[in-house]
Amino acid sequence: MTRSSVIIATCSCGSVELKASGKPIVSSVCYCDDCQRGASQIEALPNARAVSDPDGGTAYILYRKDRFECSKGAELLRSYKLKETSATNRVIATCCNSAVFLKFDRGPHWISAYRARFRGELPPLQLRICTKFKRDDVVLPEDVPNYRGYPLGLLVKLLASRVAMSVGR
Ligand SMILES: [Zn+2]
Ligand SMILES: [Zn+2]
Repeated sequence: MTRSSVIIATCSCGSVELKASGKPIVSSVCYCDDCQRGASQIEALPNARAVSDPDGGTAYILYRKDRFECSKGAELLRSYKLKETSATNRVIATCCNSAVFLKFDRGPHWISAYRARFRGELPPLQLRICTKFKRDDVVLPEDVPNYRGYPLGLLVKLLASRVAMSVGR
């Protein structure tokens, strides 16, 4: 994955296209209760596709905001909040109710794009987080580190990407 490589995500009908360029911050699966609730809310919309994986985890690829853009169909995007006070927005392509990415109201310099919507060669999965919320019947593979909460290494990666972004690298 080089700095200039671009990967494309689309909604399931193809009206919305998103472009992510360069190295992602991280590629992870989240099992937290918000992501599980968010996935089931979106999956309940008409014609919606699966948002989470069969084991209840939701796979994301995190990108800096300056490396992620909507290249087609931006007018079809709509934000959903779990509750009115939520700081996070799950952004959906209203043409086909596909979940495309997750963003914060303010602050964070990254977005979490739903991995399932990308095409082509994707960055490898690096970790699973918030596994303490996973369903009891799910046994996680040990191919990548599994964390019960948010590991320090992830916070460091997020911080480092903030610094790199502010110096234009
Ligand atoms: Zn669509
Ligand atoms: Zn989560």
